[in-house]
Amino acid sequence: MKKNVQEIINVGKNIYEKGLISGKSGNISARFKGENGDIIGITPTLKSLSDLSEEDIVLVDLDANTLTNGKPSSEVNMHIEIYKKRPDVNGIVHTHSPYATGFAFSDKKIKRLEGFGAIKKPYLPEIDYEKPGSNELAKKASEGIGDDDVLVLKNHGVICVGENLKEAESLAVFIEESAKTQFITYMLNSVEDII
Ligand SMILES: [Zn+2]
Repeated sequence: MKKNVQEIINVGKNIYEKGLISGKSGNISARFKGENGDIIGITPTLKSLSDLSEEDIVLVDLDANTLTNGKPSSEVNMHIEIYKKRPDVNGIVHTHSPYATGFAFSDKKIKRLEGFGAIKKPYLPEIDYEKPGSNELAKKASEGIGDDDVLVLKNHGVICVGENLKEAESLAVFIEESAKTQFITYMLNSVEDII
């Protein structure tokens, strides 16, 4: 358990340092096996993920009962609903990373670039805006992600999932890079050559 909690702390710090989250935004979680079923460790509400300590990570069960002190992220239900629907997922990273979120606020979709694995669909899946922290968002996000590993939340941000938290983190980094590359491509294509 200690090792898993430490991983949440490390991933929070990494994605903060890489600029995927800023201020107190973003939330991440990992699922581990407890004696009486699955336990989810999740980052707390209203705290920067840049420098968390072990006591900051809140443990909850799949019924949203809080098992430790502290208040979990306001998106805890979104994490729980995804874990319930996806037994293969053990790590979730939710960010408002600037380039991917820029796409989420625009009418442009993020293309799947080489590196997403087998490209089945040309663009990343999306769901319409629902209020952050709401049960509607938790429901729509857990349904919208289907069997994919990423979901764009329109006018909000991005969710990445993985078989462990490190995988979800790598995907979040990759998606932000992909969105950045596509943004640069759009910009270059929009300027006239000056010769
Ligand atoms: Zn959010």
